[in-house]
Amino acid sequence: MAVLVCGGAGYIGSHVTRALIDNGEEVVVLDNLITGHVDAVHEKAKLVLGDLKDEEFLDRVFRENKIDGVIDFAAFSLVGESMTEPLKYFENNFYGTLCLLKAMQKHGVKNIVFSSTAATYGEPENIPILETDKTIPTNPYGESKLAVEKMMKWCDQAYGIKFTALRYFNVAGAHPSGDIGEDHSPETHLIPIILQVALGKRDHIGIFGDDYPTADGTCIRDYIHVMDLADAHILALKRLYKGGDSAIFNLGNGEGFSVKDVIEVSRKVTGHPIPAVVSPRRAGDPAKLVASSEKAIKELNWKPKYNTLDEIIATAWKWHKNHPNGYED
Ligand code: UDP
Repeated sequence: MAVLVCGGAGYIGSHVTRALIDNGEEVVVLDNLITGHVDAVHEKAKLVLGDLKDEEFLDRVFRENKIDGVIDFAAFSLVGESMTEPLKYFENNFYGTLCLLKAMQKHGVKNIVFSSTAATYGEPENIPILETDKTIPTNPYGESKLAVEKMMKWCDQAYGIKFTALRYFNVAGAHPSGDIGEDHSPETHLIPIILQVALGKRDHIGIFGDDYPTADGTCIRDYIHVMDLADAHILALKRLYKGGDSAIFNLGNGEGFSVKDVIEVSRKVTGHPIPAVVSPRRAGDPAKLVASSEKAIKELNWKPKYNTLDEIIATAWKWHKNHPNGYED
């Protein structure tokens, strides 16, 4: 039996695929390669190229492979773009997963682990954020993910498809080998952009606002290592296989770091001065997002191993240094 990893050629999907294979699982990666990279896919995974919205293709994938669990990463994830192109996000992220659930129902596949996000919460009421807190997304990206969570709840009730939604905070780092890592085009995330400065590909890092109500005025985020995230997916899938109920879990480190903290640690890790320039706020950025992951630690028995920002940035640096042009190298 195999695990179907939708979006397995992307940043998080490729690391989870690698962890599944290292864990002895058979993996089928489905990807349309719009944002994914063939070279990110582990050689032992079977790669099928196509789109979740292509129902005939999906039907064939389920017919031709013995799939007993699905992990779904296939989504667009640029918050800013989702504000100007909401329909692109609902079509790809919501309708794509709708087609996937239809195929699962047709083929009697009952377990799905879904890649959700802290963006489902919107502006948090409490820190750290609990899974039971209010979900009022402030952008279509978060709304499209929340809509899928709701759709899965009804599919569980009607068809008995069990889901685990994992709400990620700020995912960072790379496989410790330095063989796979983050490669987005355009790159919008803080750590890869900072490391591009260290590589000499940019002059400086722009700090998006230093007048937030935080100690140093810059936004605070909870950075979680991509390999710790991968472990959580495997634990979540195993829990479903053992008959676990549908559930939602936050995945973060439970500790907040400001943009200035991240720049400072990156200077230490890379030995590069990394010039920083304060620029205007980016629309839609909450001042502070920090997770409570107690539920995942308790119920999934999840033990994040990369507990310091130094370790997280060091693995990202290894990848970026070895592959300054990402998968083009
Ligand atoms: N950020 C920044 N400069 C950049 C990119 C990001 O100051 O060039 C800030 C951003 O405003 C946020 C934090 O870094 O407070 C993390 O942003 P990222 O895009 O990495 O993740 P997000 O929190 O949006 O998921």
